[in-house]
Amino acid sequence: AAAIDLRGVEKTFYSKAETFSAVRSLDLAIQDGEFFSLLGPSGCGKTTTLRMIAGFEEPTAGEILLHGQNMVGVPPYKRDVNTVFQSYALFPHMTVAENVSFGLERKRVDKQEIRQRVGEMLEIVGLGERGDRRPQQLSGGQQQRVALARALVNRPRALLLDEPLAALDLKLRQAMQVELKRIQREVGITFVFVTHDQGEALTMSDRLVVMNGGLLEQVGTPHELYERPATRFVAGFLGTSNIMEGKVTGVDRGIAVIDAGADGRVLVPTDRSAVGDRIAVSVRPEKIVLSRDEPAADDERCAVTGTVAEMVYLGTSNTYEVRLNGGEMLTVLEQNHSTSESTAQRGDTVWLTWRPQHSL
Ligand code: ADP
Ligand code: MG
Repeated sequence: AAAIDLRGVEKTFYSKAETFSAVRSLDLAIQDGEFFSLLGPSGCGKTTTLRMIAGFEEPTAGEILLHGQNMVGVPPYKRDVNTVFQSYALFPHMTVAENVSFGLERKRVDKQEIRQRVGEMLEIVGLGERGDRRPQQLSGGQQQRVALARALVNRPRALLLDEPLAALDLKLRQAMQVELKRIQREVGITFVFVTHDQGEALTMSDRLVVMNGGLLEQVGTPHELYERPATRFVAGFLGTSNIMEGKVTGVDRGIAVIDAGADGRVLVPTDRSAVGDRIAVSVRPEKIVLSRDEPAADDERCAVTGTVAEMVYLGTSNTYEVRLNGGEMLTVLEQNHSTSESTAQRGDTVWLTWRPQHSL
C-alpha cells in the first residue's frame, strides 16, 4: 500500500456568509520513503491538505489512508505521522536535549532509551555537541534542526513539513535544503514537504504535486513536470515559460504549425490539435538559441525574429528580453558564454531558434 493515500479528498470551510472549497477532489498516492512535495501559490490548499493528513482537519468528503489504514475518526496523536511547522515553538526554558526528549518522557519511555535516542537524533541533525544549550543560544537554522529532531525522535513513519525553511535567509535555506535531504535519506522515512518555492521543490523532491486553487494540476518527478508540464499553469509556475498564443495553420506528422502573430514559424508536437484550434505554446529560456543571422529557409527548427529590448550580463550567462514583431516578449538565457562579448545588444534585430520538441 502507499504510505499516504488520498482518495477524492475535499475540504470545504463554512462561514456565515459563504462556503469555500479549499481542497477539491484530490487523489494522491505518496510512496513509502519518498521525498514528496506539495507545491503551489499561497492559498492553493497545501496547508489544509497537510492538516488533513495529520488529522487536525477532517475531510469534508473522500478518505485518507495511512499505510493502508483508513484514518476516518482517528485523532492526530494516534496517527503514525509527525508535523514540523514553520514556526517551530521550542520551549525556551528547556535545553535542546530536553526539548527533543519531551515527547518520549510523556510517553514514559525508559530513561536509558530516551538518552540513547535523543543522542542519536541530535547526531543526525548535526547538533551532537549542543544538547546542553538553550534554544536562544542557537541560530535560526539550528533551532529548526532541533524542531526536526523533536519530530523525528518518536520515529514516525512519515514526517510532514509545512514550509519549514520559509523563515530562514537565502543562504541558510539553501544549506538546510541539502541537510534535509541528507536527513531524510538517513532516517529513510516518507517526507511530505510543503513549499511555495518552485526551485526548492524541484531540487529536493523525488516527486511533487503542483496545486492551484484547491485542485491538483500535475503530479510527477521534477524532470517530468519541468520538461513536460501538463497545463499552462504548471509551465508558468515552474520557471519562466515564454508563452505564445496562436491558431494552428497546419498539422504534419505530429507537428502543428502555429501562427503566433510573429514573423517566423512556431512548431509544436501534438497528438490532438487540428487546423483552426487556438493553442498556447511555451518554450524555456535556456532552450532558445539567439543569433543575429536569419536561419536558412530549409531549417527545421522553430524560428522567430524580434528586437532585443533588454540584455543583462550575469557573469556565466546573459539573459535577453526580446520583443517579437507580434508584440510578445520572450526571455532567452544564453549559457557559458566563452567570450566577454554578448551575441547581441539592446536594439539589435535577432533570430530565436529552438527545436520543435522543446515547444511545450
Ligand atoms: P496554502 O497553505 O496553500 O497557502 P491553505 O491550505 O492554508 O493554503 O488555505 C487554502 C484556502 O483555504 C485559503 O483561501 C484559506 O484562506 C482557506 N482556509 C484555510 N483554513 C481555513 C479556515 N479554517 N476557515 C476558512 N477558510 C480557511
Ligand atoms: Mg500554508
